[in-house]
Order: sequence, then structure tokens, then C-alpha cells
Amino acid sequence: MIKVIVCGACGRMGQAVLNAVHEDRELELVGAVDMKAGQDVGEIIGVEKLGVVVSDDLAGVIASAKPDVMVDFTRPAVVFNNACLALSHGVRTVIGTTGLSDEDKKAISDVAEKNHTAAFIASNFAIGAVLMMKMAAEAAKYMPHVEIIELHHDQKLDAPSGTALETARMIKETRAAMQQGHPDEVEKIAGARGADVDGMHIHSVRLPGYVAHQEVIFGGLGQTLTIRHDSIDRTSFMPGVVIACKKVIDLHGLVCGLEKILD
Ligand code: NAD
Repeated sequence: MIKVIVCGACGRMGQAVLNAVHEDRELELVGAVDMKAGQDVGEIIGVEKLGVVVSDDLAGVIASAKPDVMVDFTRPAVVFNNACLALSHGVRTVIGTTGLSDEDKKAISDVAEKNHTAAFIASNFAIGAVLMMKMAAEAAKYMPHVEIIELHHDQKLDAPSGTALETARMIKETRAAMQQGHPDEVEKIAGARGADVDGMHIHSVRLPGYVAHQEVIFGGLGQTLTIRHDSIDRTSFMPGVVIACKKVIDLHGLVCGLEKILD
């Protein structure tokens, strides 16, 4: 059994992870951390009490539960410290929280290496989203004019989404930076054309009702191609999170991207 603790356990994703870990035969839920401490995790996921009470003390949970893996779905502002704390205690770390900078990732990689352990980061744990990104990178070879529209629930803290940034990064590997749109175009209101990554424009929609969605739109002569992925429920991310909890045991240093552990 792989002993797992969940950080951000009371959040939208954290609750789904508690449930997925509880239901998997090879994973054992041994701890839960959240600022909203005090509840038994069984009550949170609607089963019998499981004897694991949510704590607001990550260091204490690591010391008492001795986990093999920490899963983090918290907030951009706290995930870095959580990850470094876990890794410095030799706890393998699966990170779903988005918003980490490249410098943060480099530092996490260094802490993992130094402590002979591993961290795994995926901006999106849904297999359909991984396929969308791969297909978008392939399509950009032939249709280099591209814009990304990502749509999320209105409680999301970071924009653009980690998935949109990762999609742009993958497209950058298959097409050169280029000017898109008219060279003399003018934004009458700042931000009207969205964020600009090497000429690719990223537009972030935040509305109640959405979970996590993205369209990658390619334009060519007399045609457009749209590749769209919709996570309509947070269960879409759970098979990926469960696989990551198992695969991270045999990883070294930092590995990023669900596709790296699926192939
Ligand atoms: P949420 O706000 O519902 O949950 C965050 C939880 O973290 C809250 O319960 C909060 O109390 C807790 N928290 C805050 N500070 C903490 C701390 N210092 N220690 C422990 N817990 C703390 O957010 P959410 O919708 O569950 O999303 C969480 C993160 O996951 C976001 O960054 C989001 O973008 C990301 N996300 C990633 C994927 C993916 O596939 N990688 C999918 C969906 C969401």
C-alpha cells in the first residue's frame, strides 16, 4: 500500500482526491491537511468516519502519518512551501496546484534531487486535456495561426490557466514565434486581445457554471480547426492523480506532464 496525504483536502479538487485515494486498493489515505481543520475525511466524502482528521499542520501530519506521497491541490501562493517541506522530509510529491513559475519548478527540482526523492507536476490530470495539447502541437506545424481560449469557474485564482500556458509551451516547440493579426491592430481597451505568448493570444473566461475547458483555434486559408476539451466534472482528473501517486514512487527529481508517465 502507498500511504498518501492530501493537502487542500477540503477544497473542490482535494475532496475529489480524498474520494479517489479512499477508493483505490493500492493507496491508503493516512492524512489530510487544510486551513479548515477538524473534520474527519469520511464525513467530507460522505462515507463512515475513517479516523483521519483534517489538520492545518502539514509538518505535524508528515511526522505522525509518515506518508510515502503528498498530493497538493491548494493555492498558487502556498504550494511551493508545501512541496519543499514535503520533499525535504523525503515525501514524494504530486502537484496539481497551478501557478508555479519556472523558477519555482527549478527550485522544487533541486530540493527533490537533494533529498533523493521525486516531485511530479501536471497542469492538467485529465487524459483528454493531454490529448488536446498533443493534437494542438501537431496541428500548429501545418496551421501556425492559433489562439487559445480557456474557460474556468469564477473562483479560479490564476490566469491564464496552467493548461493554456502548457499548450502554448508545446506549440512553441513545433512552430516559430510569429506576428498574428494585423500589424497595426489597436486595443481600444487594454487586454482586448488577451495575453500574448510568442504571437499566440490566450483568452481567459471566468464564469460560474464552468469547471475546466479549453479551445485551441487554428485559422488557415478559408478554414478553421477547433480542438476543444471539456472537464465537466472533477472526476475527470482522478485517474491521472491516482496513476501519479503510484508512478511517483519510481521517479527521480522533477517530472512534469501526465504524458511522461502514461507512455
Ligand atoms: P479550492 O479553493 O476549492 O481549494 C483549495 C483548498 O486549499 C481550500 O480548501 C483551502 O482551504 C486550502 N488551503 C489554502 N491554503 C492552504 C494551506 N496553506 N495548507 C493547506 N491547505 C490550504 O481550489 P480548487 O478548485 O480545489 O483548486 C486547487 C488548485 O488545483 C488550483 O490551483 C487549481 O488551478 C488547480 N487545479 C488543477 C487541476 C489539474 O489537473 N492539475 C485541475 C483542477 C484544478
